[in-house]
Amino acid sequence: MKKVAVVFNGGTISMKVDERIKAAVPSLTGEEIMSMVTGIENYAEVESYSFSSKPSPHMTLEDMVELSKLIKKLVERDDIEGVVLTHGTDTLEETAYFLDLTIDTEKVIVVTGAMRSSSELGYDGPFNLATSICTAISEDAKGRGVLVCFNGELNSASEVTKANSMALNAFKTPNFGPIGIVDNNKVLFYRKTIKHRVYNISEVVEKVALIKCAADMDSEYLNFLVDNNYKGIVIEALGRGNVPPKMVEGIKRALNNNIPVVIVSRCFEGRVFESYGYDGGGKMLKDLGVFFEESMPGQKARIKLMVALSSDKAIDIKESFKRNTNHN
Ligand code: ASP
Repeated sequence: MKKVAVVFNGGTISMKVDERIKAAVPSLTGEEIMSMVTGIENYAEVESYSFSSKPSPHMTLEDMVELSKLIKKLVERDDIEGVVLTHGTDTLEETAYFLDLTIDTEKVIVVTGAMRSSSELGYDGPFNLATSICTAISEDAKGRGVLVCFNGELNSASEVTKANSMALNAFKTPNFGPIGIVDNNKVLFYRKTIKHRVYNISEVVEKVALIKCAADMDSEYLNFLVDNNYKGIVIEALGRGNVPPKMVEGIKRALNNNIPVVIVSRCFEGRVFESYGYDGGGKMLKDLGVFFEESMPGQKARIKLMVALSSDKAIDIKESFKRNTNHN
């Protein structure tokens, strides 16, 4: 029987409603959650690990580094087929992408959780865990980087984002949809996985900021970041990758101080491109030397910039944000 390591790391999947405050709090142990995944022993042997009982807004970058180290060790073991990690859903996409960027393995790593706590009707934790374990033992899931499994849908960590604050199918891949599904324990994929660079890091450069653009914003936040020694800036720009003209001075200042600036869009779908030549338009920003990250929410571009800045091999940031040549 194939063996899967399940690392428990808090989130709603481990929560119950505390009747005194009428709100969900961390309560269940890994063993208690596993005991609800009935019948899984017919598919895989499970080895459980307790990492934390944190709600995901409490996750730190240091936690991500520690998780990456732990999971690297687990996938190096010959007797372990794959790893499943539980995580609160709010920052799950960030940890999943962090692991994807820092663990080089053909083995399957799946991140899952629950949208409803064990006190609610339709608790989805046991189902998500069962389908994640089925994915972890699937031959077809190998070599696809870190996967996120919810509601019987599989998404690549590099592509997924939490798109709904309450629905069971909260995790979506903008532009494409899921990469695969788990249909009655059968794991099926619809398309190829786009491979990306894996970085070797031992700690994280944390001072990377994320700014969301809005109408008529100016350079005040950008100036604050330059003055406070930030090492990188991600801007969730408007539409195709444009900013209000008053932000241009701040971007120039950051670039002149050798602070890389990465532009993504605040739009859920589409991609950024140097389509507009007006003041603050994408063409102007591109010519100034910003990087475009084509289709990714700001919180994930921030993780990528942090990881790239933290790489042991001092990889050129330009290389990390080079446009995929198929996508001109
Ligand atoms: N707020 C919770 C968390 O991220 C939500 C969840 O797990 O679904 O920990």
